[in-house]
Amino acid sequence: MSERETMEYDVVVVGAGPAGLSFAIRLKQLKPDVSVCVIEKSSTIGAHILSGAVIEPQPLDALLPGWRDNPPPICVPAGPDEFYLFSKTGARKLPLPPGMHNHGNFIVSLGALCAWMAPQAEALGVDVFPGFAAADTVHNDDGSVAGVRIGDMGVAKDGSHKANYTQGIDIKAKVTVLAEGARGSLTKVLVKRFKLDEHSDPQGYSIGIKELWQVPAGRATPGKIVHSFGWPADTRTYGGGFLYHLDGDRIALGYVSGLDYSDPKYKPWEAFQQWKHHPLIKPLLEDGTILSAGARAMVTGGYQSLPKVEMPGALLIGDTAGLLNVPKIKGTHQAIKSGMLAAEHLAGKLDSAGFDAKLRGSEVMAELKKVRNVKPGFKKGLWFGMLNAAWETATAGLSPWTFKNKADWSSLHKLGEYDEPIRDYVQRTLPPRDRLASVYFAATEHDEDQPVHLHVADTNICATKCFEEYDNPCTRYCPAQVYEMVDDASMPHGKRLQINAANCVHCKTCDIKDPYEIITWVTPEGGAGPNYQNLSQRRPWPTARRQSNLVDISHDRPHGSGHAIRCDTSALYTLPASRRFRRQAGTARR
Ligand SMILES: Cc1cc2nc3c(=O)[nH]c(=O)nc-3n(C[C@H](O)[C@H](O)[C@H](O)COP(=O)(O)OP(=O)(O)OC[C@H]3O[C@@H](n4cnc5c(N)ncnc54)[C@H](O)[C@@H]3O)c2cc1C
Ligand code: SF4
Repeated sequence: MSERETMEYDVVVVGAGPAGLSFAIRLKQLKPDVSVCVIEKSSTIGAHILSGAVIEPQPLDALLPGWRDNPPPICVPAGPDEFYLFSKTGARKLPLPPGMHNHGNFIVSLGALCAWMAPQAEALGVDVFPGFAAADTVHNDDGSVAGVRIGDMGVAKDGSHKANYTQGIDIKAKVTVLAEGARGSLTKVLVKRFKLDEHSDPQGYSIGIKELWQVPAGRATPGKIVHSFGWPADTRTYGGGFLYHLDGDRIALGYVSGLDYSDPKYKPWEAFQQWKHHPLIKPLLEDGTILSAGARAMVTGGYQSLPKVEMPGALLIGDTAGLLNVPKIKGTHQAIKSGMLAAEHLAGKLDSAGFDAKLRGSEVMAELKKVRNVKPGFKKGLWFGMLNAAWETATAGLSPWTFKNKADWSSLHKLGEYDEPIRDYVQRTLPPRDRLASVYFAATEHDEDQPVHLHVADTNICATKCFEEYDNPCTRYCPAQVYEMVDDASMPHGKRLQINAANCVHCKTCDIKDPYEIITWVTPEGGAGPNYQNLSQRRPWPTARRQSNLVDISHDRPHGSGHAIRCDTSALYTLPASRRFRRQAGTARR
């Protein structure tokens, strides 16, 4: 084995989302001589960022004054807000809670926003490297974080090295900034290693499933924002839908299910599809076409679940720290603010110490504190949750109590120990037909001849205990149908687990919700995963071909290379981004 190549920077950032890019931009604005690189696992910047989002623009005003004169490609001023309580056949319009007023905000494609921010970071001298997954952290002799290790490329499923094998390099830095988004895979390990959560509640999550539709001309009202709760969720399940009208006759819509749900038979993907068939939603979509679809976990534990955000040599920002404001369903402004705060902290001295106190004393934390009891209140059911939310909103969170959070995996009821809710679902007619058809619109791509990136510690548990106690909920909560129980006469119940890893859209739900905590999501080869960047395009995803689980997107790679890419991520090493990485590797300080 050759000696591992090493590059050195002052700061390495993991994740080119709003948090990581804002951090890098701000640090270079304040300290142009500091060397900074940003590592991103998606093939192009923004390709793994799902949300068509309504964002609060004030942090962007502070970071990039003048951005309004040169806005990102999709940027529609927020128009009227509507908020509904749905029943199966009707809807009651409710007064807007203060946090949901969007006047002055913008509807953007978050992926396009990141693709627009990255060149601005590069112009300041930041090295941005898409197509590279940080697979591990590296440590100094005293245990402090010394940087990250990029995952190897060209490893076959059986662990052998293929012809294109390339050992991942180590990127060493004085400070490592984790900006991996919700349930970061490195963050998860570091939280445990440095006991960052010993004084906080367990983190909580929801799963957001989303589609972008092209609808018949004239049907969309650019800027209009609709939120709903109620049907199809039962009163004990936290769930709600959102619908944002973009320009170009496009509508972004999605459904969020709290991962603290207790019914092991619950299917978040099906709940979203049902919601689309509500009488207020369906007429908007009929005769339209899906442009893109995907899913991603959202971090919802809030104030009481915030872990310590610093450790020797590293710090956490954005969603990986847990900064999303749940009642607003907004995390972008918090991600940007925390990134800027971290940059201002490190501009003083390249040392993570003191950042935790700085973040906790900031307006980022003050915002989370005000709403800390809203989401946990819904654990006691919809009606209590609504009353509690009204109280907490009216008092701006001044209640002298703080509700506790518990781990989402622990909330599932065992079969036979609960009453399964009557779901009262409708017959669906809108596409997609099923989860596999939906994965097609995520344009996800993984080389199938690579080690499975979903580690199940003991598959015997799946075939025995989990089958008996929960009827294998992974086969239902995964929005991409990655987990299947297939026939196998040699197993006690005639079924064994099959993992269709190539379909994974990197939402991280399985890593969160598995009741035995035996599923670990690790990074696959860099560049693999969903390709959501067509959210920034004005025309529909044209002629993508599906062959088994393979998707050919070589015809139209939005920021792409023109190289053929057909579910073989080894081809990503031929992309310009990775060539640039190699070229810049030579220029970085060694
Ligand atoms: C369905 C849905 C709807 C939402 N709606 C809104 C909304 O309307 N308004 C709003 O403000 N917010 C919204 N959010 C939340 C918002 O998306 C997040 O708060 C925001 O994106 C957080 O930014 P971030 O930079 O912390 O993380 P992310 O945006 O998640 O970015 C993290 C980046 O890190 C990369 N990465 C992760 N791990 C690694 C690794 N090991 N190596 C290399 N790269 C890695 C990822 O690929 C990703 O590009 C929504 C979220 C969802 C899921
Ligand atoms: S395998 Fe896990 S991370 Fe991948 S799509 Fe399914 S639930 Fe999400």
